[in-house]
Formats: sequence, structure tokens, C-alpha cells
Amino acid sequence: MKLSGKRAVFLLYACALLLPALSCSFTEWAGTAGETAEAETLARQIRAGGVTAETGADSGTKRQEAVEEEKARRVALTFDDGPSPSWTPELLDGLKERNVQATFFLIGMYAVQYPEIVERMDREGHLIGNHTYHHVQLDLEDEEHLSREIGDTDKVIYLITGKHTEYVRPPFGVWDEKLEEELQVLPVLWTVDPLDWTTENADQIVEKVVTEAEDGDIILLHDCYASSVEAALRIVDILQAEGFAFVTADELMLP
Ligand SMILES: [Zn+2]
Repeated sequence: MKLSGKRAVFLLYACALLLPALSCSFTEWAGTAGETAEAETLARQIRAGGVTAETGADSGTKRQEAVEEEKARRVALTFDDGPSPSWTPELLDGLKERNVQATFFLIGMYAVQYPEIVERMDREGHLIGNHTYHHVQLDLEDEEHLSREIGDTDKVIYLITGKHTEYVRPPFGVWDEKLEEELQVLPVLWTVDPLDWTTENADQIVEKVVTEAEDGDIILLHDCYASSVEAALRIVDILQAEGFAFVTADELMLP
């Protein structure tokens, strides 16, 4: 991924260097004998200075746009506390329409109740992570209980998708580094939190996220509220129009 991105950027720079050279040879070509009437007109304009300046400015802008686009800012949408039979399918429909992959941190006891939704998430390319079996605060659990919370959730998801969960979203954001080694999982926290669970006002959630979002952000939402799902899809529309690309959380975490 990274290499091809770099290669594409290199090609763009190469084009940027070549373009002025090409417009120069075009000027020379337009001035030679045997040119068509159109070329004649163009050549006159070029010699008068109009077209050269305009074309130069034009291609400059295009080059700039292309380079900007290549350096697309990336963000990850993450959803906790699902799957929800009421709202997750609608969210998955909307993400599919927009060709966006998100990350879902599932509660084990809900995953076991709605395996068809979990299976669909996996089939449609979303990343599935672990949010414990009963939504427990990890530092309050004794070691055995704690590894069951993570382990049982992993087991359920593995039985449905055939994939183990490598990432955990610790409920309430409470994590201790020693858990990382003990449980062999990586925590995924967040950088943008619109507190979507405190409001039914989708406008407010959208506003907070789109004004804060920057390259590399991990956005925290919940797919168990109608307003959060509505907001999520509007966030995608707005940020995609601004040139943001949506990736799964692991893509932002890997070096
Ligand atoms: Zn949660």
C-alpha cells in the first residue's frame, strides 16, 4: 500500500516536471509551417501570451489538486457496543453504498445472538474487534474473569468468521499495558469522541466530528443508536467530499 502510494506520488512529481516541457514543445510546434487553422489561432494566442499563461495556471492547479488527492487524509470510523439488530444492518447498507469499511468492536453476548450481522460485517470487509463479553471495565476484573471476557468474545467471533480478534476496544477506555502481553491483543482507543451516546441530535454529532477530523483520526461512535447511525453516514458523505479516505483502524495503527 505504502509503496504504491509513494510510487504514485513520484509519478505525479515526474508529470509535474514534464508538463512545462510539454507545453514548451507545443508552443514550438504551433509556430511551425503547415499548421492547421486552429493551430494557427492557438499559436497567435500563445505568441500574444494569453494561452500560455492560462494553460500554465490551469495545469498548475490540476497538478496541485492531483498531488493533494494523492496525499489523501485517512480516518477510521469505529463502532462500539454492537451488533444491534435495530441499527447495525442499516449502517452496513449505508457503508456499502459508500464503499466504506469501518471497524466494529463487538460485545460477545450480542455477537452470539446476531451471528448473521457479524458474518455480514466480515463478508463486507469490515474489521471486527473485541469489546469484552459483558462490557466490563477491564481493571476491575480478576485475571481469570478478565481473560474469559476477552477469550469468550474472541471464541464467538472466531466461530462465526473464522478469524481471531487481534484488537480490543477496552470498555470505558480503561487499559493497562500489562494486559497487552497477557491477552495478546492490541488496544484501540480513539482520538475523536463526539459523545454520541449522550444525545439524539445527529446534527450535533456530525458537526463535532467533521470540524475536528484530521489525518490519522480514529472516530468513536456506537451502532446501537439511530442518531449515531444517521450521523455516521452523513460524516462519511461530508468527509469524503473533502477528500478524506476511510480505512479500518488497523491501517492507521500499523507502521
Ligand atoms: Zn462500549
